[in-house]
Amino acid sequence: MKKKLKISLLPGDGIGQEISIEAKKVLTWLVKKIDLDIELNEELVGGASIDTLGTPLSNETLDRISKSDAIILGAVGGPKWESLDFEKRPERGLLKIRKELDLFANFRPAIVFEPLINSSSLKPEIIKDLDILIIRELTGGIYFGQPRGIEKIEEDNHRGFNTLVYTTKEIKRIAKVAFDTAMTRSRKLCSVDKANVLESTELWRNVMIETSREYPDVELSHMYVDNAAMQLVRDPKQFDVIVTTNMFGDILSDCASMLTGSLGMLPSASIGITNTGDTKAMYEPVHGSAPDIAGKGLANPLAMILSIGMMFKYSFANEAIFEIINKAVETVLKKGFRTKDIFSNGKTIVSTSHMGDKILEELN
Ligand code: NAD
Repeated sequence: MKKKLKISLLPGDGIGQEISIEAKKVLTWLVKKIDLDIELNEELVGGASIDTLGTPLSNETLDRISKSDAIILGAVGGPKWESLDFEKRPERGLLKIRKELDLFANFRPAIVFEPLINSSSLKPEIIKDLDILIIRELTGGIYFGQPRGIEKIEEDNHRGFNTLVYTTKEIKRIAKVAFDTAMTRSRKLCSVDKANVLESTELWRNVMIETSREYPDVELSHMYVDNAAMQLVRDPKQFDVIVTTNMFGDILSDCASMLTGSLGMLPSASIGITNTGDTKAMYEPVHGSAPDIAGKGLANPLAMILSIGMMFKYSFANEAIFEIINKAVETVLKKGFRTKDIFSNGKTIVSTSHMGDKILEELN
């Protein structure tokens, strides 16, 4: 008997809503044409959840999504909720999912689709055939470290502070994921830190070196984050797998997105492994809710659609569907269809929903 796949879809805010409609089209196609047994449940997160439930992520929602086989999320945030207290903002909903489900390993592949070679601001020879993977630690570091806050020290003078903290255990588990992943690729791993000035990342580097002894076939290198940002745009093909901390990974992957042509092209998978060996996972585009283009049909849904492909690869061990989705994206791009963010002369500009329809035509 076929296993029912329980998937939670959290569209969130801004363009998260629009790209989720396109994600649903692809999932519906998979149910109809590949005969997959999928139970899709839509849930609230971010501003959408604040408006309805008064909180960016309710405990009931967290409970339901944690029981699903995989989670797909659009994006959260927007100007409407920016003046709320920090703990009540939409982004806290997303961080809560990552933390509560312990989704510590974030995979952010930056792959240049051949037809998009002219959409990048870099020269074609620099990015042709680019296929790199950034593995970002997602549940530790400065985004979660305590103490944090803003406090008054005297009249008209406040102190804002965050704590960059990593434990050996936190580093070790992301190191193992990174080395294991490097073993399945070109066996080259670059660890990015700032060990020259930050003690927590000095520990990061030491644990990476210690872990490398268990992986004699992987060539480990180290790079300071400032140099890595520069090298990513100078010669990105020198990298294969990059492993780095929460904040450095956040910044470097946005930088890497422009190698691929647009932030709207970068999917991601966030994975956690429980004590009993079960995996929990959430799939989402790297970009945010893009309030500047929300509601205008301008959002590129491809990062979201590629995230569905990653879900089939990582959560359901179905490489075939991953390949089918990637191929459909590549062919639609080859045929010249482009959302505005990846448009170049001579190509056909399409809206968010038109792009989703083109993907469906190709899947068919
Ligand atoms: P953003 O990623 O939303 O947008 C940055 C720029 O990229 C904008 O010009 C936007 O129009 C463009 N862009 C992003 N995705 C696109 C797509 N699919 N197609 C076409 N263009 C796209 O980042 P921002 O503007 O810094 O943040 C906006 C809001 O999103 C903030 O509230 C922020 O906190 C939130 N945010 C959420 C996430 C998330 O949900 N994972 C990630 C980053 C930012």
